[in-house]
Amino acid sequence: MSGPDVKRSQPPRGPGSPASPSPALPELDLSLLEGIRFGCLPNCGLCCFATPAVSQEEQVELLRTIPKLELLPGSNGYSQVASRAEGGACQLLKGSRCQAYTCRPFPCTEYPIMVHIGSRAQASVCLSCPGISLDHLEDFATSNARRAEPKGLEQELDRVAREFARFPVQNWLRVHQRQEEALRRRLEREDRWESPEDLRSRLQEELPFPEADDFPANPPPPKEEGLESLPLFYEEGTGIVALSDHPRGWEVLSIRESGGIGSSLSVLVPPDRPPRLDASGERLLRGYLGLIVQRDQLLWSAYAEVGNHEEATLGEVAEEIVREAATQVLTRAVIRAQLRGTSAGVLSREDVARGIRATDSDLLDLPTLGRVL
Ligand code: SF4
Ligand code: SF4
Repeated sequence: MSGPDVKRSQPPRGPGSPASPSPALPELDLSLLEGIRFGCLPNCGLCCFATPAVSQEEQVELLRTIPKLELLPGSNGYSQVASRAEGGACQLLKGSRCQAYTCRPFPCTEYPIMVHIGSRAQASVCLSCPGISLDHLEDFATSNARRAEPKGLEQELDRVAREFARFPVQNWLRVHQRQEEALRRRLEREDRWESPEDLRSRLQEELPFPEADDFPANPPPPKEEGLESLPLFYEEGTGIVALSDHPRGWEVLSIRESGGIGSSLSVLVPPDRPPRLDASGERLLRGYLGLIVQRDQLLWSAYAEVGNHEEATLGEVAEEIVREAATQVLTRAVIRAQLRGTSAGVLSREDVARGIRATDSDLLDLPTLGRVL
């Protein structure tokens, strides 16, 4: 199935990319998948609130199955499956099921896996998918070896491996290595560079936790900006819900599979200071931040962002991204606890897990100097 984030709806092609497979396929780093367990939830459908990219070959098959399918023009020979008229779910979603499951396009078959290609290719999973267990996360708070094979992702991994072989990954890697080298030279001259290894180990040692000044968190966009811009998550017992800015706080909206906003579920006040966590909640948050630090997406998002600053160092920019993510996790955890009527003043592991689910796809959607398959 496909994911809710915008980037996955873009054609996964790059500058001057030929269609022929790469002669020597580079290694795909799978270490972030160790210890993961996955099982799709039958009535979820969260990842189908998207407009997945469709290759020309996939188009032929899809149109044979659903002749009336509306495809939007894309670039590089790709098109996109249109969403419902009022925004929201892919038009092929019905009763939380894909109407073209056997020929759904690549972004849908690889989900919840995503591959980031910077100076190497690294696979990760989107933790907004509620079918991914979060038990493996605590290991990322330390340098504990994980080494357990992922379970339940066999088909998705198989599809990623086949698709990976179709793209000119070697070319992309070379382009990104040159970009990284040019950025390094420039930031070194300006005394703003830190090597990826040093940056990772420094942040891992001292995970950037949010401080009082970081609250209240940046609000989500207002609903007037359109459903596509709002953070979405799956709320057990309710279905897909969105967060939007509101004059009195953050509004929680139910989203209809048939398109558009269903109803306003509540307007809740986000915390204006760091909420308290119990020990298990803090362990899970630390694990999540440790995972973020290990994701290439963080580093390459910092590469993309540092160009917008004149004085901030690469390390400061990366730290800011992690701290902002943690602030959003805690704020969304509080909002979800209030929504469920379980807010007890101290966030538990389950609360933090809900905050992570409501945040991770936004984080994976940040602009990157690399690319995401
Ligand atoms: S559990 Fe995950 S893969 Fe399954 S429908 Fe939900 S988001 Fe998609
Ligand atoms: S094509 Fe099918 S699997 Fe993909 S987003 Fe649409 S409904 Fe979901």
